[in-house]
Amino acid sequence: AELALRQAQKMDAVGQLTGGIAHDFNNMLSVVVGGLDLARRRIAAEADEVTRHIDNALEGANRAAALTRRLLTFARAEALSPQGVDPADLVAGMVDLIDRTIGERISVAIERATDAWPVWVDAYQLENAILNLAVNARDAMDGAGRLTIAVSNHALRRGPGRDLPPGDYVRIAVIDEGTGMEPAVLERVFEPFFTTKPVGKGTGLGLSQIFGFAQQSGGTVEIQSIVGEGTTVSLWLPRFAGEAGVTPIAPALSDAPSD
Ligand code: ADP
Repeated sequence: AELALRQAQKMDAVGQLTGGIAHDFNNMLSVVVGGLDLARRRIAAEADEVTRHIDNALEGANRAAALTRRLLTFARAEALSPQGVDPADLVAGMVDLIDRTIGERISVAIERATDAWPVWVDAYQLENAILNLAVNARDAMDGAGRLTIAVSNHALRRGPGRDLPPGDYVRIAVIDEGTGMEPAVLERVFEPFFTTKPVGKGTGLGLSQIFGFAQQSGGTVEIQSIVGEGTTVSLWLPRFAGEAGVTPIAPALSDAPSD
């Protein structure tokens, strides 16, 4: 409980700080981009070298602007709009997107329960989380290997996380055959901005965001990892008592059956 609380407080503080900085920084950047843009247009075509420098500066500024936009999205911790979702359908519907995103040298296998229980989540955010996990898996496999996404039902006598009640949960596991994680890395993966990737490649926001999403959805994230063998990241989400695709009037997570 303490770990989860500390994590949540950290997320709040980091979110506020990041939001403030990203917002101001973004305003300053638009001045830089705007100025460079104007200068670029007024320069005569023969001033080759100058335009090249300006183009470089513009590209850098645009990249920085893209980063601040990502930070803003993180800081806003976008409001969730949950609905009843069939997780197996959602995953099956993502295959093309995942294929396109992680490249053809990684094969993608989907293992879905025939009757996956519905969950009560923001479908867009769940897709985002799964896509993020697939990208992490790709990075860990150095571009080649096998990625498995497995959706399964579990009636648990003990909750999947220390603070979660026993009951019915759906597990969405993203399994890779990548590098795995050293214990020192595993310990810190949920910290905002913790990354082992080179600057420009990783932000260290993926897993902390996914953790926040899972918690807000009444579930949790579990990671099993063996160095040299691979990693399994599991999203545990409580079973939703209603139907997928049917939005009830007053849904509540606590309606999830407890046995
Ligand atoms: P980012 O991907 O931007 O670094 P994340 O929060 O998603 O941010 O991940 C944090 C770190 O956790 C990564 O830099 C990497 O070291 C480690 N990691 C995450 N997923 C995996 C994985 N599937 N296999 C190995 N390491 C991983």
